[in-house]
Amino acid sequence: MTPDEVLAELTALTAGDVPTHGGATMAYVYDSGLAEVDRLAAEAQAAFQWTNALDPTAFPSVARIEDDLVGAAAALLGGGPGTVGTVTSGGTESCLLAVLAARSRWRAAHPEDHCRPQLLLPVTAHAAFRKAAHLFDLAVVDVGVDPVSCRVRPDDVAALLTDRTALVVVSAPSYPHGVLDPVAEIAALSAAAGVPCHVDACIGGWLLPHLDAGPFDLSVPGVSSLSVDLHKYGYAPKGVSVLLTADPELRQGHWFATAGWPGYPVVNPTLAGTRLAGPMAAAWAVHRWLGTEGYARLAREARTATEQLVAGLAAVPGVVVVGEPVTTLVALAGTDGLDVLHLADEMTARGWLLQPQPPFTQPDGSRLPATLHLTVTAATAGRVPALLADLADAARAAAQLPAPAPDPGLVAAAADLDPAALTVAEVDGLLAFAGLDGGPLPERMAPVHALVAALPRPVAERLLAGVLDRVYRPTQPVPPPPPR
Ligand SMILES: *Cc1c(COP(=O)(O)O)cnc(C)c1O
Repeated sequence: MTPDEVLAELTALTAGDVPTHGGATMAYVYDSGLAEVDRLAAEAQAAFQWTNALDPTAFPSVARIEDDLVGAAAALLGGGPGTVGTVTSGGTESCLLAVLAARSRWRAAHPEDHCRPQLLLPVTAHAAFRKAAHLFDLAVVDVGVDPVSCRVRPDDVAALLTDRTALVVVSAPSYPHGVLDPVAEIAALSAAAGVPCHVDACIGGWLLPHLDAGPFDLSVPGVSSLSVDLHKYGYAPKGVSVLLTADPELRQGHWFATAGWPGYPVVNPTLAGTRLAGPMAAAWAVHRWLGTEGYARLAREARTATEQLVAGLAAVPGVVVVGEPVTTLVALAGTDGLDVLHLADEMTARGWLLQPQPPFTQPDGSRLPATLHLTVTAATAGRVPALLADLADAARAAAQLPAPAPDPGLVAAAADLDPAALTVAEVDGLLAFAGLDGGPLPERMAPVHALVAALPRPVAERLLAGVLDRVYRPTQPVPPPPPR
């Protein structure tokens, strides 16, 4: 085969993908709408694709790129003289490292204490923090949020802070609802208790400084670390985020060094060994070209589009905006019997991707409704009227449908399962029974989401892993092309 034929095959694989550009995919991708950004990112990435950011002494260019990115983030996000940072592969890795650093600090301060330190986590904090607690063996202390504003309440945090608290997390804004937690109040409470406070600004950090939404960054007293993703509103390609830390001591807590093997001396600032330099170089180039002015303009465009969207939604029957969206994320709940999980399917049929978020029961039993999550980027800006028209049409269609209800027999059977005891084959069987028997996922996902929401959480989690287990099965080897 020629390289062009190989590339054509690769391109053909994307036929079933959602579009990465054009603003209709309102989760996962962030489109600046600027062709120059794409070209710059691609060329910068290509120039660094063989470079290994594992060793900054071999590749000083990468150390410079990382220091520039961290410096830019610190300047934008209230960093002080002691602020340092680390470039990571994405938001999840930044959040993991923030938790690891806080755990190290807690352990150093409690050398005699062998209980698990606690992570004070609003239920709306990103799932990456649950992963961190799982990996690094912290106990999650769930903090419910106000069911109307979806913001965490400082009094609830105050009541749960203890000697065992290693870290308090707040979001700026939260991913599920796009609302801003009361960062200053909670950081002050944390500081008074001697506990670090992490601001998760993964999605909002590169936007909020250009909008007027309230204090949230490292300049707020008590904030000890902050995560911000360049591969979201930094409009860089995937694989680059920054974790800022208010002081170098705290940063040491997520670094790892060993001279305990006969190989090269190892010192890793992140979880990976070999690290990608390509995404860092792309982020550097996009940042250099856009500059503060460019980002401010893109942020205002996306924010104006969000305000138009929210205003227009008032005229769409059956949907309401949840909480007060302060950036460019909007969460929609259904009213008057409209189920937003159906609305998601109806919008998929009209060429949009709106992300379904199932209903959620808080620790106190209060319910957060199912919502649709919309991420507005600069590329969506010109398309708000079309989005509103399709939403109105889709809402009419969704309102006709009965509430998605999972098979009651299946729910009853699942309630008795011990998820830890299920084998891969048994999970396969259950999924087949639920209609997910391999092959492509069903066109309408509402019944699947309703099933997930109806199951006990551990069972749902086991079945979700089962779905992925089916997706990731090796393909049969491709037969070689016929000889020519
Ligand atoms: C996206 C996001 C994360 C996780 O980031 P990934 O880059 O997907 O790993 C964490 N927190 C918030 C608020 C986010 O929006």
